[in-house]
Amino acid sequence: MKTDQHIHTPYCPHGSKDLFERYIEQAIKQGFQMISFTEHAPLPPSFVDPTPDQDSGMKLEHLEGYIHIIQQLKESFKKDIRVNVGFEVDFIEGFEEETKAFLDTYGHEIDDSILSVHFLQNNGTYYCMDYSSDVFSDMINVFGGVENVYKAYYDTVYRSVLSSLGAYKPKRIGHMTLVHKFQKAFPCQNEFTYETNRILDLIQKQNMQLDYNGAGLYKPLCEEPYPADAVVKEAKKRNIPLIYGSDAHTAKDVGQGYSYLEPML
Ligand SMILES: [Zn+2]
Ligand SMILES: [Zn+2]
Repeated sequence: MKTDQHIHTPYCPHGSKDLFERYIEQAIKQGFQMISFTEHAPLPPSFVDPTPDQDSGMKLEHLEGYIHIIQQLKESFKKDIRVNVGFEVDFIEGFEEETKAFLDTYGHEIDDSILSVHFLQNNGTYYCMDYSSDVFSDMINVFGGVENVYKAYYDTVYRSVLSSLGAYKPKRIGHMTLVHKFQKAFPCQNEFTYETNRILDLIQKQNMQLDYNGAGLYKPLCEEPYPADAVVKEAKKRNIPLIYGSDAHTAKDVGQGYSYLEPML
């Protein structure tokens, strides 16, 4: 079945205001049989978003409306495509209890979800790792080298897979090599094979899945999918399901990179 299971929506404060219908029409046009809207879930209430506009997650007060509108669209488009209600949930070290509380409250309304790491912590200060190359550059200074940023990222992803987030913990790990987003500006010599294999072993053991994400192909400093090819090869060896996601933040980006990733799906 052709699916795109990582799509953002007008509820994303850093995305576009493209209507849900535009995304769905794009998906139908490209022959997708199922899509999941996976908006950035509201961040834990006590977490202070370090981005300048504090726009990394959707607003908690919009949550009911978001779920409701997708449920309606699910119904009205059901002849043409299956539409899932979903979230991209942040794993933020130190905020696991609040994340679990969110999932415990809304999990029964969620069809599909992704667990992603965007925020990394150093001495109690959090950074949004994929926000910009300037922030990434600051992180290299603070963490003491690009290798240390990679190490912190993969260790955090490992802990996300290991985390106890309750019965509604997402089964899929988002863009596992997101730390490559600015790799052409900040190359890293170490491949971190031990760290990535350790994550994959745990994903396999827990019967989880990988988000196979086309967005990185279109990031000028990345130019490769998430995860990168070497990690995908290892995931295949372990029979870990790869679930395609465009990570579209505008309707025209639905399906981006699909033809490149398709042979591995
Ligand atoms: Zn986003
Ligand atoms: Zn993400």
